[in-house]
Amino acid sequence: MFESLQDRLGSILNGLTGRGALSEADVSAALREVRRALLEADVALEVVRSFTDKVREKAVGAEILKSIKPGQMVVKLVHDELVAMLGSEGVPIDLNAAAPVVIMMVGLQGSGKTTTTGKIALRMKTRDKKKVLMASLDTRRPAAQEQLRQLGAQTGVDTLPVIAGQSPTDIAARAVQAAKLGGHDIVILDTAGRTHIDEPLMIEMAEIKRRSNPHEILLVADALTGQDAVNLARNFDERVGITGLVLTRMDGDGRGGAALSMRAVTGKPIKLIGVGEKMSELEEFHPRRVADRILGMGDIVSLVEKAAENIDAEKAAAMAAKMKTGKFDLNDLADQLGQMQKMGGMGGIMGMMPGMSGMKDKMAAAGLDDRLFGRQLAIISSMTKAERANPDILKHSRKKRIAAGSGTDAADINKLLKMHRQMADMMKMMGGKKGGGMMKQMMG
Ligand code: GDP
Repeated sequence: MFESLQDRLGSILNGLTGRGALSEADVSAALREVRRALLEADVALEVVRSFTDKVREKAVGAEILKSIKPGQMVVKLVHDELVAMLGSEGVPIDLNAAAPVVIMMVGLQGSGKTTTTGKIALRMKTRDKKKVLMASLDTRRPAAQEQLRQLGAQTGVDTLPVIAGQSPTDIAARAVQAAKLGGHDIVILDTAGRTHIDEPLMIEMAEIKRRSNPHEILLVADALTGQDAVNLARNFDERVGITGLVLTRMDGDGRGGAALSMRAVTGKPIKLIGVGEKMSELEEFHPRRVADRILGMGDIVSLVEKAAENIDAEKAAAMAAKMKTGKFDLNDLADQLGQMQKMGGMGGIMGMMPGMSGMKDKMAAAGLDDRLFGRQLAIISSMTKAERANPDILKHSRKKRIAAGSGTDAADINKLLKMHRQMADMMKMMGGKKGGGMMKQMMG
């Protein structure tokens, strides 16, 4: 899976990483190639479009980190977007409900539903030590019920005895009842598939859902099907409401587009993947690992992550040096306010400091809240470079212009200037001789 996509992306991005400088045109050209590679891998057009748009947007706004090359930054952005497209975090099957927890398996015929039912049951029995009951709701193909019974015998998992002539919805209700009586923790309902989506199938699924109140509804889809898989997922989600996806045949040599699109289109997590026909061949899905495999550029990604960590450390060090000299202009104040916002605003910062949570309310009462900081940032960004470096030149006409530019008034600006003066004084004091002692006192 993903081999050809991996080759394509590899060669596109390899062409970029060595370069010392990249123009916007270079980035655009590379993204056009990325777009083509994704489309050829059968990723849905809408998903590809939003993917490249997001990478481009971030590339334009990206902070230039001096220790890495621009091309490496692009690799990192593509990687991050791949991870986001695949769902960021692995999401396991949720068993947090009153027993018996009902799991309903849906999907087309031949997608691997019955096999996956057996795989999940075996895993929950052996790994989670759960008592599991499986029930086949496929009354149209008697062989389907027999197939599940055999899987049960093979894995040592209970299956619901077949009663001829019962409707799928009645079987569902009976399965839940039997699980209650039998002391089962989990019931897995293996519903009937069709060769394609049709109205009777959707009505049947909705009715089974109503009768059995499933905690999870997992859509099983064959990863080798391309674009169709996306419509399938959208349809099932709209009509029945799914809670997650299971992609089978991830061991095959398909192009992988289904895997890359389904999560993005439905917003529902890929919970598990089937990687073979054997009962043990089921894996949890880890978006980051898959993205790493597709891109095969883990070194560059971690390099950029390190550089990004360092830049924050460098900034902090530079700030400390400035404080010592007592030079703390409005650019620095804006930096500080920006950092605070990054850390989750006042609430975030206070929350991180032990014993400070009560402070937040006191500060809010004094008018020191996140809204104020937002306004102050707006004021500073409406100033010229010269004004930020030397706030003393701010006289009436300049203030008027800044107020208009930031949607504030002169009083707001004066408040900001006063706060800046106080902070600068305090820093001078802390940085000076006396300050050294104070710092020592605080640290000691
Ligand atoms: P159902 O009609 O949806 O219940 O599909 P089945 O469970 O009967 O599976 C159809 C075929 O796909 C069977 O031959 C399975 O062994 C095979 N299959 C299911 N999952 C996987 C998988 O993850 N990898 C591979 N290679 N084959 C699979």
